[in-house]
Amino acid sequence: MVLSKTASQSDVSVHSTFASRYVRTSLPRFKMPENSIPKEAAFQIINDELMLDGNPRLNLASFVTTWMEPECDKLIMASINKNYVDMDEYPVTTELQNRCVNMIAHLFNAPLGDSETAVGVGTVGSSEAIMLAGLAFKRKWQNRRKAEGKPYDKPNIVTGANVQVCWEKFARYFEVELKEVKLREGYYVMDPEKAVEMVDENTICVAAILGSTLNGEFEDVKLLNDLLVEKNKETGWDTPIHVDAASGGFIAPFIYPELEWDFRLPLVKSINVSGHKYGLVYAGIGWVIWRNKEDLPEELIFHINYLGADQPTFTLNFSKGSSQVIAQYYQLIRLGYEGYQNVMENCRENMIVLKEGLEKTGRFNIVSKDNGVPLVAFSLKDNTRHTEFEVSEMLRRFGWIVPAYTMPPDAQHITVLRVVIREDFSRTLAERLVNDIEKTLHELDSLPSKADIKTTVAGEETQKNDVVVAKKSALETQREITTAWRKFVMEKKKTNGVC
Ligand SMILES: *Cc1c(COP(=O)(O)O)cnc(C)c1O
Repeated sequence: MVLSKTASQSDVSVHSTFASRYVRTSLPRFKMPENSIPKEAAFQIINDELMLDGNPRLNLASFVTTWMEPECDKLIMASINKNYVDMDEYPVTTELQNRCVNMIAHLFNAPLGDSETAVGVGTVGSSEAIMLAGLAFKRKWQNRRKAEGKPYDKPNIVTGANVQVCWEKFARYFEVELKEVKLREGYYVMDPEKAVEMVDENTICVAAILGSTLNGEFEDVKLLNDLLVEKNKETGWDTPIHVDAASGGFIAPFIYPELEWDFRLPLVKSINVSGHKYGLVYAGIGWVIWRNKEDLPEELIFHINYLGADQPTFTLNFSKGSSQVIAQYYQLIRLGYEGYQNVMENCRENMIVLKEGLEKTGRFNIVSKDNGVPLVAFSLKDNTRHTEFEVSEMLRRFGWIVPAYTMPPDAQHITVLRVVIREDFSRTLAERLVNDIEKTLHELDSLPSKADIKTTVAGEETQKNDVVVAKKSALETQREITTAWRKFVMEKKKTNGVC
């Protein structure tokens, strides 16, 4: 009796310790553990480790949605076990996706007759959408070249050097040459005139970006369209335009309805948009819309019928979750045109608050535009003493994640910091961020610059001063981290830290 009482007491004491016995020994990292563990322990172990991730709400590096209404969270959880591809089994989910495609096509002014339905598909994000759009252009161009008896083995795409990495992926995976229009200091988007100059008989499309990832600026799609119409007339080619509206596709229709960038322009044959950016849905949804049925070659569409009825599909993968499609439908009907307009206007206003706050410090050049994607991209007026990478690094201490990156060629000598304004980045947070950036600058100013450190290290008498030495080494460490990070970014030559 006594023995068993002791045993049960020790059990209680183990369970009442926060780090239960399961958490005391670490699990193997790369091999599946031999034995099972209780669900509570598994939860605790994973939850604890995840606490060390950044806070998504303070992640100002990303366009991707980090907050949705609890009602929508409920719908997402309720559909988490539905495979989207089982269209015959979940016909309502399929119907919701089709409604989304049509709503978005109308938003982009697709030329649809009253009884016509839009041509488009839901994807995992803009990357998949862009692969599909690119494949359609490639196939259409090949078909035309074959019919004309001309070689069709050297397709190319013309873009700005500011394209998102998914275009480079498309080019490499699907063997299309990427011809990039170089940027220059002070001009960080594709120059339409130069783009049209680069177009040749092998160009499958020119890709314009509505909302450059680097500084949020909208490219001039209308000018591109007009110049290309002329070039096509002169040459007899038929070069089309794709608009990568990953971020801007859910902004322009609501706050710049007059701006002509979409299917109102005759050469725009397809458009992609990320539902998970300003479409206001959590990560995992994008859309691609084609102007007409003729713009999507029939031979790319697969008809699958072993799950029931005939299902036309055009995607890169097969199975995927349904939740994001349902969540997109929720946002479209819950917010409506009015709601999206309010959200986008609010983001724009918060962007202005942040931009003006940064301008007031007198330390930054603003390289984003007021009428693009609501973000502020800015660089230090004087980065000889301290760099943008150091500002970024030091802001982490306050919890802010603000990326710094170098611009692509030929503007690679410019480094910028970028803050994306999402729906959940409120006015209060904007004001606090300005405050914390001021504190950061103040702190950086009080530290010796790199040049000063070198001279102090050389001078012998300061070596005796412990305080100076200690401060120096902490700063040196910080500089090493910054240098390593910069090297990493430079080597990749791409803006992998931002999306
Ligand atoms: C984010 C982004 C992409 C990639 O989109 P995902 O939805 O993340 O796959 C492509 N192009 C631009 C301009 C983007 O901003």
